Amino acid sequence: MKIKTAFFSLIILFSSLSAYNQKVWPTQQGDLKIYPIQHASMVWEWNGLTIYIDPAGNPDSYNHFAAPDLVFITHSHGDHLSKTTLEGVNAEGVPLVVPQEVADKMDEKFKSDLTVLANGENSEIMEIEIECVPAYNYPATDESRHIKGVGNGYVLTLGGTRIYISGDTGNMPEMNEIENIDIAFLCMNLPYTMDVDDAAKATLIVQPKIIYPYHFRSQGGFSDLEKFKSLLAEENGEIEVRILDWYAQ
Ligand SMILES: [Zn+2]
Repeated sequence: MKIKTAFFSLIILFSSLSAYNQKVWPTQQGDLKIYPIQHASMVWEWNGLTIYIDPAGNPDSYNHFAAPDLVFITHSHGDHLSKTTLEGVNAEGVPLVVPQEVADKMDEKFKSDLTVLANGENSEIMEIEIECVPAYNYPATDESRHIKGVGNGYVLTLGGTRIYISGDTGNMPEMNEIENIDIAFLCMNLPYTMDVDDAAKATLIVQPKIIYPYHFRSQGGFSDLEKFKSLLAEENGEIEVRILDWYAQ
């Protein structure tokens, strides 16, 4: 009986270790730790910083983490920008990296420390290199839910590791210019972003070492991640797909 208990404890230990390994990447300045919060929202810990990406949802979901040192916001839709969440996680006075349309919607108390960047602009903050890339429904029309030039995708370099955060986008031609990526977070849901076929094509263009599908809850359920994995494996078995629990809430 005792052996059986020890055996199951070991299994639990190994599975929690492998779940942990799915969220960690070694950079030249220590481990980057990635924690999914929900849908498109995540927290990173790196180099003594706590970085929030598109924080939305219940502020209590962030209770396990320190208040943000730095926040990135891709665009103003409610699953990416939430003033209630920003207030709840004490983001006042914290540097917020945003596109202009988000800056326009922020309350005065958040306006003191905005870094407003447009597609194609670069910056550096807290030793993080920032490149802004487009994020829009392709082909671009004025009726798109995500109009070209409004939202940002971000390519961030942390300790030599290059990470692509897609924001809400289609498989746009500019994917071809997103290069040397270690880790990619790619959106996939209809009708707002990409189906899994387009997401697989985009992944094959960007060629990250690791792809984290995110933003994959659609109106009628979830995107078919097994199909995404097999589409990718047919063409390139070397890109590692890591599926985290984005919908625990
Ligand atoms: Zn979205």
